[in-house]
Amino acid sequence: MADCTETIKELDAFLDGELTDHVREQIHHHLSGCVDCHQAFDFHAELKSVIQRKCANEEMPEGLMEKIQQCFNTDLLDP
Ligand SMILES: [Zn+2]
Repeated sequence: MADCTETIKELDAFLDGELTDHVREQIHHHLSGCVDCHQAFDFHAELKSVIQRKCANEEMPEGLMEKIQQCFNTDLLDP
């Protein structure tokens, strides 16, 4: 059973669909019972789709990249 640290660690691979069914199942299970991780995953999923849209269609607004990097560097990975 995955804990929060493991779950967050797999976040990117999960969103990119790079995990095995077994690991994805564990993460789904954890997310269904953990609001913190669920929100973190929602946030990153949203972020990824925004970035993909922006990269596909138009230039990034000035300063957005720095804001995103700040978000990744905040307390998300800290206990
Ligand atoms: Zn959790």
